Amino acid sequence: MSVRRVRRGEAAARPAARRVIPGATCAELAATYDAVLIGGGLQGVALAYELAKRGYGRLAVLDAAYPGSGASGRNGEMIRSAFASEEWIGLFDDSLRRWQILSAELDFNVLFTRAGYLLLASTPEALAAAQGNVALQRRHNLHVELLGHDDVRRLCPEMAPAMIAGAVLQTDAGFAHHDATLWAYAQAAARLGVEIHPYTTVTAIGATGGAVRSVTTDRGKISTSVVVDAAGGQARAVAGLAGVDVPVEVFRLEAMVTEPLAPFLRPAVSSPAIMGYCHQTTRGEFVGGTEPDVPVPCESIRSSLDGARDMATKFVRLFPRLAGVRMMRHWSGIVTQTADVAPILGRAPGIDGLYLDCGWVYGFVGAPAAAALMAELIATGRTPPVLAPFGIERFATGELIRETSLVVAAAGESVA
Ligand SMILES: Cc1cc2nc3c(=O)[nH]c(=O)nc-3n(C[C@H](O)[C@H](O)[C@H](O)COP(=O)(O)OP(=O)(O)OC[C@H]3O[C@@H](n4cnc5c(N)ncnc54)[C@H](O)[C@@H]3O)c2cc1C
Repeated sequence: MSVRRVRRGEAAARPAARRVIPGATCAELAATYDAVLIGGGLQGVALAYELAKRGYGRLAVLDAAYPGSGASGRNGEMIRSAFASEEWIGLFDDSLRRWQILSAELDFNVLFTRAGYLLLASTPEALAAAQGNVALQRRHNLHVELLGHDDVRRLCPEMAPAMIAGAVLQTDAGFAHHDATLWAYAQAAARLGVEIHPYTTVTAIGATGGAVRSVTTDRGKISTSVVVDAAGGQARAVAGLAGVDVPVEVFRLEAMVTEPLAPFLRPAVSSPAIMGYCHQTTRGEFVGGTEPDVPVPCESIRSSLDGARDMATKFVRLFPRLAGVRMMRHWSGIVTQTADVAPILGRAPGIDGLYLDCGWVYGFVGAPAAAALMAELIATGRTPPVLAPFGIERFATGELIRETSLVVAAAGESVA
């Protein structure tokens, strides 16, 4: 795997693009920064914002293309914290608390819609597991309700009855707008002095004496003692520039949006039975994605006919009224996935000043908390307890996180 170079057309578009991307700068790179964040996705930009809030010094976010060009501008926008493990609940509920006030904090409407998040159970076995999860979630003060068949029918009258055994409803979760969220963080970070440099590809990380010293880009070399790998689908290649192996595989996820429809779906819905997730926007479009039962590693963001067919078939099965509705757009993005599907957050082994913020499959909902907690680690040197289980060490010690409520398949094995 190697670092992706910017295509010729993209390079030509650089000056114009820099002017229109919220928060991005046209300035030259400085010779020195206190921290360099590689990747202008939600993780890199939100972390830069949190570091700037702490007055961390001169900060640069570098992106090989434009901020939000990776998975952060391509995701399904689903937001919940009702997971099945202490570790995921700890991190993601911290995030959900931050989502509730994010528009006010960033002074930009991220369109967080607290419409509820329904995790559907389609079999008695899935419902029994959900019951156990709800008990754990309530111990963590999550706002969750266990719904039976009739309750779900009342909430989602257009859902196929045969798909419904019951569900967990998280009442204060929902969805937001992915572009608005990225732009909100980028503009807020820029207001605090963060430099967001689009079309700037990192090609080398210099480390001597066991510590980070520099990053080299296609626009020049920068001195710095702190580097964060937030390079999304390229995170393994970027860590490899410093000789660090990040155990992730890259997978393509596909999503789609229909023509606007009269309101028929209030909450966000995830269904492990069809490995799908969806919501209806306030403009009426039905947005969602489905995944294959066994994912095949793939670094291409070319959308596939198989993907479109899979989504159309499964969503019509879940909501029969979608039959005949027009799919307006269909797109793909890539995510990096670890063996336990949890992100890698913390210090990189063996190199002072190198941090990892990658391996994300739920990196949209997780961004607000990960950013704040990673900023705390970088600024104070102390790992916040909620972050501790997500360190890269777990792959050496075997202390993987067991999370069983994900609507995504682990490589080679379905975990839904
Ligand atoms: C179809 C789809 C649906 C999804 N649905 C959801 C969902 O509903 N909820 C949820 O929480 N998550 C969802 N996700 C996952 C979520 O989008 C990601 O986990 C999240 O966006 C990751 O953010 P990131 O900042 O780590 O990576 P990205 O957004 O991928 O950003 C990484 C950036 O790094 C840059 N980069 C790479 N290499 C270099 C380099 N050498 N130099 C400089 N820059 C570099 C890239 O250009 C890119 O902009 C979905 C993803 C997809 C694709």
